[in-house]
Amino acid sequence: MTAATHSTLFPQVPETPDAVLDGLDPEQREVALALHGPVCVLAGAGTGKTRAITHRIAYGVRAGILQPATILAVTFTNRAAGEMRGRLRQLGATGVQARTFHSAALRQLQYFWPKAVGGELPRLLERKVQLVAEAAARCDLRLDRNELRDVTSEIEWAKVTQTVPADYPAAVAKTQRDAPRDPAVLSQIYSTYEQLKRDRSVIDFEDVLLLTVGILQDRHDIADHVRGQYQHFVVDEYQDVSPLQQRLLDLWVGDRDNLCVVGDASQTIYSFTGATPDHLLNFRTRHPGATVVKLVRDYRSTPQVVHLANGLLSQARGKAADHRLELVSQRDKGPEPVYTEYPDEPHEAESTARRIRDLIAAGVPAGEIAVLYRVNSQSEVYEQALADAGVAYQLRGAERFFERAEVREAGTALRGAARAGRNDSLLDGAEGLPSQVRAVLSTKGWTTRPPAGSGAVRDRWESLAALVRLAEDFEAAKPGATLTDLVRELDERAAAQHAPTVQGVTLASLHSAKGLEWDAVFLVGLTEGMMPIAYAKTDEQVEEERRLLYVGVTRARLHLSLSWSLSRSPGGRASRRPTRFLNGLRPGSAALGARGGAGGGGGIDRGSGRSAATERTAAVERKPRQTVRCRVCGRTLTDAGEMKLMRCEECPSDMDEALYGRLLDWRAAQASRLRQPDYCVFTEKTLMAIAEAAPSTEGELVVIAGVGNRKLTRFGADVLAICAGETVGEGSADGGGES
Ligand code: ATP
Ligand code: MG
Repeated sequence: MTAATHSTLFPQVPETPDAVLDGLDPEQREVALALHGPVCVLAGAGTGKTRAITHRIAYGVRAGILQPATILAVTFTNRAAGEMRGRLRQLGATGVQARTFHSAALRQLQYFWPKAVGGELPRLLERKVQLVAEAAARCDLRLDRNELRDVTSEIEWAKVTQTVPADYPAAVAKTQRDAPRDPAVLSQIYSTYEQLKRDRSVIDFEDVLLLTVGILQDRHDIADHVRGQYQHFVVDEYQDVSPLQQRLLDLWVGDRDNLCVVGDASQTIYSFTGATPDHLLNFRTRHPGATVVKLVRDYRSTPQVVHLANGLLSQARGKAADHRLELVSQRDKGPEPVYTEYPDEPHEAESTARRIRDLIAAGVPAGEIAVLYRVNSQSEVYEQALADAGVAYQLRGAERFFERAEVREAGTALRGAARAGRNDSLLDGAEGLPSQVRAVLSTKGWTTRPPAGSGAVRDRWESLAALVRLAEDFEAAKPGATLTDLVRELDERAAAQHAPTVQGVTLASLHSAKGLEWDAVFLVGLTEGMMPIAYAKTDEQVEEERRLLYVGVTRARLHLSLSWSLSRSPGGRASRRPTRFLNGLRPGSAALGARGGAGGGGGIDRGSGRSAATERTAAVERKPRQTVRCRVCGRTLTDAGEMKLMRCEECPSDMDEALYGRLLDWRAAQASRLRQPDYCVFTEKTLMAIAEAAPSTEGELVVIAGVGNRKLTRFGADVLAICAGETVGEGSADGGGES
């Protein structure tokens, strides 16, 4: 860790309580000073709601008015809670609980379960889908993937609205919900699912809240205990509180009124789970003495981004829209949003990756760039494209490295090994620190080679591999360092949240981007069917999708790009249309209610699939894409991974396994030398394609998808040598100063 990173990790803590208030405008200051009684902040995106409540807590604690241990701050996601803890620490306030509803409830449940129920808390079920499928099968129903997803979310809805199976049909009738199945059948699946859980002694995500509510309701002694501990409550993103979370909050607060809520009805994006902005909008009715503060200054985004955000809101309809707040940017002028239409998805992804590379080359840190999409399955083609462009990315966004389960487990294992005296193995002269760490982490799932594919197993491996790299760097910086030294370093880093990974570009869904911000945001895949998503049918569901796009737009500080493609795969029929939500806002689209033009500067590019920005920087003219066919069976390929392999995933592979192994080893060495993730050298799909083709000339190598001219120059000689069966030294490929 360099001195420079130390100073950014430990910025100056405000010297006095009053200095904490210096960073606030008059309205935010009003929030921070209203330390007692109910407070409600209604404000648009980027106006400093989260900042105001964080400063409020810090001021209260620093001024000695609030006891840190009596404060419970609730935010929406784990990453937001981590962010809040970080900000509180920077303001000199420690010991405050900042958690999600779920994690706060789980903690209380674990503590009180033995007393309230007896025995250990049942195991938490990670994914319900499997059990729902089993429940459906017992009801003689076979559901496909989409039906299962719909039935599962319907059960979740029933649970967060505290509707038991027997009451479900009546609840559907009352709320006029569009149930995915006959309500009587669904009620039966729901009830069987609950029974299966009981039989297996597991609880699900919603049970954590339901059981906590149950215990606090029934056991006054326990409720009193909890209320004795927590006396001040702060809730961020309150517009998305579900009825069940609200019930829990009511039980925590009891008959007291030290409750501060902040939210923005225009960012309600979880109605589909039963959340409603009513609690936010009616706060004053329920708390007549409440201090209500509105914030309108947008500190996050440029006037250009804010103009588009306001334009989107001006077209919104419905309850949340009646409470919209027009944003006023406080920032200097910036670039116009860029709108780009592409012929197909791979084009869109490749061009996006190139533009990201250009931004990084122009000095924008990779960690300040995000690609946001509607559904997680859209990420794959972007992962490939970024990897091919040599850009590091992180799929898990801002989730804190040291809070990941596998990292904590690894820490425990390393600490155990250090205590058990493995430090001394250095004395044997046998092993250095990195080998000891590899040995310990291999008991936790680390392997020399990454597991195939993406997903949870791969995520886990990446975390462990980052720890191994950290151990290598640590030893290089401090020769002779012991395991105990490393454990101490890890603890220090965890306290300062200094993750060891290269900060990459964030790939995230729009839902998970809530509350976060980046200098540059790429909103991709904005076609009808994705935005709004095909299953949004009612007006209310469509409005929720519009708000989701609004959330996406308002994540950008400076650069904002919006793009879509006319067909899924190269050569496909151009049957798609751009999202209706940009009509009248993007240049060249039919004005729907002429209020919000997107300004004159943001040109839209058609046909070539290049925005003006890309046009200037793209050095190599690319040939139009052709249809890719499986080289085994001849089927036209549409899946990005299959296109890269140039065959269907199921078609027999003629890969030279030994060659593939050598390529993987070489890649690991290169990645470690270049201090980049492995996939930035080549993705596994590309290595498989190389091992299948076993090219012997540059011409044969360069045509393999994922190679291209740039990587040919950098790695071509090495790869051809490996294919020819030669041994390649570690430092032979040219690092070329690329990032
Ligand atoms: P969202 O609705 O997206 O959650 P928010 O209202 O919570 O947004 P914040 O994230 O608190 O907004 O603030 C947005 C950005 O503006 C942050 O970078 C924050 O530090 C900055 N900011 C907020 N208020 C001020 C201020 N008074 N002075 C300087 N910067 C500010
Ligand atoms: Mg916020």
